[in-house]
Amino acid sequence: MKRVRVRYAPSPTGHLHIGNARTALFNYLFAKHHGGDFILRIEDTDIERNVEGGEESQLEYLEWLNIMPDEAPHLPNPKYAPYRQMERLDIYNVYVEELLEAKHAYKCYCTSEELEADYEAQKAAGHPSTRYSRKCLHLSADEIAANEAAEKPFMVRLRVPDAETYTFKDMIRGEVTFESKDIGDWVIRKTNGIPTYNFAVVIDDHLMDITHVFRGEEHLSNTPRQMMVFRMLDWETPTFGHMTLIVNSEGKKLSKRDNSIMQFMSQYREAGFLPDAMVNFMSLLGWSPGNEEEIFSHDRLIEIFDENRLSKSPSMFDKDKLMWMNNRYIQVLSPEDYQALVVPFVKAKYDTSNKTDEWINLLIGLYQSQLQYGEEIVELVKPFFEDFTVLESAKEFYEAETTETVRLALLNEINAIEEWDAVNIKAAIKNVQKETGIKGKPLFMGARTLTTGSDHGPDLANAILLVGKDEIINRLNR
Ligand code: GLU
Repeated sequence: MKRVRVRYAPSPTGHLHIGNARTALFNYLFAKHHGGDFILRIEDTDIERNVEGGEESQLEYLEWLNIMPDEAPHLPNPKYAPYRQMERLDIYNVYVEELLEAKHAYKCYCTSEELEADYEAQKAAGHPSTRYSRKCLHLSADEIAANEAAEKPFMVRLRVPDAETYTFKDMIRGEVTFESKDIGDWVIRKTNGIPTYNFAVVIDDHLMDITHVFRGEEHLSNTPRQMMVFRMLDWETPTFGHMTLIVNSEGKKLSKRDNSIMQFMSQYREAGFLPDAMVNFMSLLGWSPGNEEEIFSHDRLIEIFDENRLSKSPSMFDKDKLMWMNNRYIQVLSPEDYQALVVPFVKAKYDTSNKTDEWINLLIGLYQSQLQYGEEIVELVKPFFEDFTVLESAKEFYEAETTETVRLALLNEINAIEEWDAVNIKAAIKNVQKETGIKGKPLFMGARTLTTGSDHGPDLANAILLVGKDEIINRLNR
């Protein structure tokens, strides 16, 4: 078997989107599973849409996810470089010439105004889909010579065969068929000399020895166009697999404008999601291992990835599941890694100048088992940085009759503590129970609301510890 070579081919038009990240991931997993190469190619021929820093950003977030390319613009294999399409224009021109020569393509001198007018006329006449009239295919030799003498700008169009069938076995959908009669003569090189996506992609996939192509289903209808070029140049077509859509909980395709779902890897990193959790989550968007297993390490994913288990139905982006999964990864972080993830959020939000690292680490440590993403810590630890107030939901306990008894006893016990630590605080609470006979909810909710103002929070003894002895006494002296 040929060495597996796959590519992720983004246009540098912005940050890494979850749909593209999934495409990159599945190509990567497939390559690594089969011991092949994963290539990053930059499809920058749509020059108006390129954004400054778009390429760097794609790479930056792939690296964040640990989806490392074997070949890329900065990691060239001399046999295949360059990896940016705008640096390959000479290469495309060779094949444009070859197709012109073989009469598989022809020059089209129509202006955009003429084309526009023609399409309008077709629409007015009720044609369901407009297509190029082939006016320039039928130019006489004299007309062509006149255009050339006048140096009229031209584009190059593929002369689509009249009755050809394009059938391929999609790795996900099975057999798919298109007919050439449904496709008009399309442009392979624009008047500005830049090839179109459907043309450049074929030249590159061939010259880069790409064996398999996993991409989004929006490219399915491009595939017959690409197949005709492969056929005309007498090249072997790679194996295609078109992945199904990612949809929201209402079954609608994720739209980049939908603000209810974070869709860019940059947003996830900023909010304190973990790259391994993101990879794990994305691996299940349109793929499944065929059993109940849901948490996989990077290496385990490579080992078990099986292209035959890519799903045929749309994959639902389930936010809750992502939260659950990220939490699972946070739970098992080492203290150092957990602190590295979480402390920056605390420090960015609150004045910690009078807190020790030990205090901060103890505080955030109380939330490790429940934290869903780094930034969530900000709300959770808020009570420890703000002036004491009693939450509305806590008032019932704060004002209960038993709470007054708890208050007096706890004040005594707290005052008596010499070594301020969680063990002694726990013992103090226990003593309050013994002395007052109050236990269970009235005791704990009373003590909690008196000391923290909240009816919920982390382990009570630790919460009291973190608030500090003097402040606790202040609060108990209300
Ligand atoms: N540049 C294309 C895109 O960003 C790549 C499509 C393909 O993989 O062929 O969608």
